[in-house]
Amino acid sequence: MSPAPGEVGPRTAIAVNGAAGRMGRTIAALARERSDLVVVGGIDRTPLSDAEADAAGYPRIVATADAASVLRSADVVLYFSSPAGLAALLDLPEAPLAGKALVVGTTGLGKDELGRVAAAEEHMAVLQAANFSVGVNLLLKLAEEAARALPPERYDVEIVETHHRRKSDAPSGTALALGRAVAAGRGTTLEDVRRDGRSGQTGQRPAGEIAFHALRGGGVAGEHSVLFIGERERIELGHAAADRSLFAEGALEAARWIAGKAPGRYSMVQVLGLE
Ligand code: NAD
Repeated sequence: MSPAPGEVGPRTAIAVNGAAGRMGRTIAALARERSDLVVVGGIDRTPLSDAEADAAGYPRIVATADAASVLRSADVVLYFSSPAGLAALLDLPEAPLAGKALVVGTTGLGKDELGRVAAAEEHMAVLQAANFSVGVNLLLKLAEEAARALPPERYDVEIVETHHRRKSDAPSGTALALGRAVAAGRGTTLEDVRRDGRSGQTGQRPAGEIAFHALRGGGVAGEHSVLFIGERERIELGHAAADRSLFAEGALEAARWIAGKAPGRYSMVQVLGLE
């Protein structure tokens, strides 16, 4: 039975992979403030002592090999570690993920990891998002709409992103998602028109190209601009995140929303009601 308005239903039990990282710690700190969620444990390549785990907001943080002990009591697993660790999690013996839901926030997933996520969707509810903020998910829709209205022969698209110096992938997952949205608005696929940066004798810019530029420095949480550049005007759609708690908050909303859902693929657009 659904809870009455204003009432909190049963708590959703979450486990976080990448618990000792920046997102893992932010997620646990925010989850602690919510009465509809409970953090049952964390998983990380580098497990923490009980005292360190407690300070990070977790009852315990175990290594991937021991993940089953944490996963057993979770309804939803939030994945915020490296792309490589995803296979290790999905391949754990005894399939401790069976019957759980999975929220994947890690960016820079390769073909193999994306294939594994697609396979996981056959038997569990999965939500993968390059960005969990309301603003960016709205921006994806606006970028697609703008691309539909502004013809590629007259408007060149350049996507610029800025992130903190510790980020390990480029262009960002969000920038690529924006590129895919623009490509979809233009009835093409990103792979056919993608360009990463420019250097040297590049020649004239071909019409229809979608180009990415990645800036790295300091502690910037994440900034994205999609520029549609015409001969006499420029339309600029942008988003700036104040800090990473914006993404952690969205990931927790996703966890709450996806708990108990049937196997399949779900999106932040559904969670946020932006359809
Ligand atoms: P981070 O480096 O601070 O943390 C990653 C954590 O994962 C570390 O504690 C590391 O020890 C652990 N780890 C690495 N490989 C592992 C493995 N094989 N098994 C288990 N644990 C492993 O990184 P971060 O800033 O927290 O970001 C994590 C990921 O989340 C990145 O891919 C980042 O791009 C992405 N991200 C997504 C969003 C979003 O809204 N979707 C927002 C911010 C960050």
